[in-house]
Amino acid sequence: MATSGYIDLHSHTTESDGSYAPEELVDLAVRTDLKALAITDHDTFSGYEMALPFARKAGLDLVRGIELNSRLNLTNGDGRSAHLLGLFPSREPSGEFINWIEDQRRDRRDRNRKLAETLQNRGVRVTLEEAEGRGRNLTSRTHFAQILMEKGYVDTFEEAFREYLGEDAPSYVARQSLTSEEVIRRIRSGGGIPVVAHPVRLSLGRDIERQELIKLKEAGLIALEIYHSDQDPQLQAYYHQLARELDLLPTGGSDFHGRIKPDIDLGTGLRGNVRVPFEFLQRLRELMP
Ligand code: AMP
Ligand code: MN
Ligand code: MN
Ligand code: MN
Repeated sequence: MATSGYIDLHSHTTESDGSYAPEELVDLAVRTDLKALAITDHDTFSGYEMALPFARKAGLDLVRGIELNSRLNLTNGDGRSAHLLGLFPSREPSGEFINWIEDQRRDRRDRNRKLAETLQNRGVRVTLEEAEGRGRNLTSRTHFAQILMEKGYVDTFEEAFREYLGEDAPSYVARQSLTSEEVIRRIRSGGGIPVVAHPVRLSLGRDIERQELIKLKEAGLIALEIYHSDQDPQLQAYYHQLARELDLLPTGGSDFHGRIKPDIDLGTGLRGNVRVPFEFLQRLRELMP
């Protein structure tokens, strides 16, 4: 196995809302000369599990990961949906953790059912069955976004989230998520490394963001995603420094989804803004051998 070069610790397959099948993603990682890849599908390990035999054959260091939703309750009373990654670079998740992930998928299905209804009440002609027909294994808001575009309700993906699906849209449906602290504790006790994904999307001012990260560190947070396609080099430098100050380990990844986010490349992100050194993975493994 490699000890240097570049890696990608955040990616999606067709088992969640990516457009590359697990074996295709392994193939792309090898062609991109990545030294390690984490598959972090939403609410499922099945993409990772399907990819594993292909990665073994190709000699790719494949890391088991997952992306989970959580509720960040701010000290000032506001709330945010916060994505957390659970990385399992050296251990298998506990049975209890795997059972809990199943609850998460059920909660996702409930949200999707309500979302379809709420959209219908706004006069949008989209059914749950149509959306579910898009996802191979589970259904994401990105699948709803594709339908909204195809039916001409919106012109772009961004517009679909702004007008219909995102946290600020009138038809937004929140999931019944646990708090970020609780999800962090579950990832830790399940044998994984909790990471705050794309912190920029929390849209918090710097002081509040720092305070919230300190709270999450107290709950067991281990790492911060400093490199991400949505974070420009200046912001990455800021987050790297913040991670050092708060004693969090740095991670990074492109958040590759394939065709549905066509500007984002595996390994290198948006126009080359992501470059994650192998050393980041070594540090995670040293922490949790
Ligand atoms: P879900 O997990 O079903 O709630 O869907 C969340 C997914 O939607 C995320 O993983 C992103 O891929 C995508 N997403 C969320 N917000 C936006 C946005 N504002 N613009 C584009 N894609 C988004
Ligand atoms: Mn996604
Ligand atoms: Mn995310
Ligand atoms: Mn993601």
